[in-house]
Amino acid sequence: MRVLILATTTGYQTRSFGEAAARLGVELVFATDRCEMIDDPWRDGAIPIRFHDEERSVASVVESARGRSLDGILVVGDRPTVIAARVAETLGLPGHPPAAAEIARNKEMMRVRMREAGLPAPSFNRFSITDEPLDIRHMGLTYPCVVKPVALSGSRGVIRADDPKRLASAFERLRALLRSPDVRSERDDANDAVLIESFIPGSEYAIEAILHHGRLDVLAIFDKPDPLDGPFFEETVYVTPSGAPPHVQDAIIRGVAAATAAIGLYHGPIHAECRVHPSTGEVFVLEVAARPIGGLCARVLRFTASSEGIRDSGFGIRIPNPESRITLEDLLLMHALGDDPSRHQRERDAAGVMMIPIPRRGFLRGVNGVESAKSVAHVEDVHITAKQDQLLVPLPEGASYLGFIFARAAETATVVRALRDAHARLVFLIDPELPMLTSPQTRYNPSHG
Ligand code: ADP
Repeated sequence: MRVLILATTTGYQTRSFGEAAARLGVELVFATDRCEMIDDPWRDGAIPIRFHDEERSVASVVESARGRSLDGILVVGDRPTVIAARVAETLGLPGHPPAAAEIARNKEMMRVRMREAGLPAPSFNRFSITDEPLDIRHMGLTYPCVVKPVALSGSRGVIRADDPKRLASAFERLRALLRSPDVRSERDDANDAVLIESFIPGSEYAIEAILHHGRLDVLAIFDKPDPLDGPFFEETVYVTPSGAPPHVQDAIIRGVAAATAAIGLYHGPIHAECRVHPSTGEVFVLEVAARPIGGLCARVLRFTASSEGIRDSGFGIRIPNPESRITLEDLLLMHALGDDPSRHQRERDAAGVMMIPIPRRGFLRGVNGVESAKSVAHVEDVHITAKQDQLLVPLPEGASYLGFIFARAAETATVVRALRDAHARLVFLIDPELPMLTSPQTRYNPSHG
């Protein structure tokens, strides 16, 4: 059994897939975006592709697949979702239709589709980065509103504005980000567009699910207990199972199912974000991505399965210990090979992750308190991903976290407390970026920040 994984060059998730594949006895073939000039620099036989050149990328993957038949396909990260869908279609493997993957990757197309389907959606206007912020100010938009890029992810460039003056400066700030070399290197025309949409108040939830031939199987609804009211929208704590009342959870699932149907997504993992309006109870699906939850966060999810469930799968997959917990990557690999995800249940315990936000721009000189944070009851792991001396860039320009804290307990409230307690024990030593301003090391303690 062989599964193709399209991914960016490096990442925790590709490693987790490698481990899952070894457990399951599945062979992985990677297709990654890296320089074709260097011949197999990572010595993993990965197929080199360029995310911005979809035509050629699809052709190289399909060409290389002819020599080594593929039984399934998965994608990690937002950028290769359309390439993956096109490869799946060409090879006759089940997946999301390419047109749907394209809509899911483009916030404007998604809004149009949701509106056409009559689903709750913010009102929106599209602008170009060449438009004048001063003109936009006078267009009579309603406030508060949210300024956002059409094709970036991870809340990058998403800024709330409460009045015309702040709208103009938010637009200017987003424009500078979209013109930065980092974003330009993606060579995506969608990065010339800006959306301004109405701000939707309410609690926010994230939904991890798998579409199985059009049927939505929800793996987890995550609560986001920290308020996300802007001006920037930093992800911090995700915890599951959700504490939302059952009727709200049902409405969320119905909302996400309707949104995936409107977009045309069909088969494979999805990750959605939604807000439940505090007065009307309407579910606004803000986005649906045609890929699983990113990076290390996947570790929060563990599943159990009956031993027959796996032995009888008939896909030639082996699980060394049938009682062992199934990771999200195990589940996704099995699904890519045709397994029905509904036979696996998320384990009963509550689990959560804190994506440790970057408090301010500067060079990371060190992190204290990691052992103390790890020793907090119910904390499973504290994983600092930022590197020593790395330039930290916070939102809305940044695209990374300082690291991740994981906790598991019987109750979600205990998990959230453990995450916050562990976070409060971490001290990040961050030096300002400009040499002129270099003063004695500034200590940042998140609990006081
Ligand atoms: P990304 O793909 O970068 O995550 P989103 O469009 O999902 O971009 O926006 C990121 C976050 O910004 C959302 O999770 C939400 O918290 C906030 N947000 C985005 N659009 C709105 C909106 N119209 N109203 C309220 N909050 C929003």
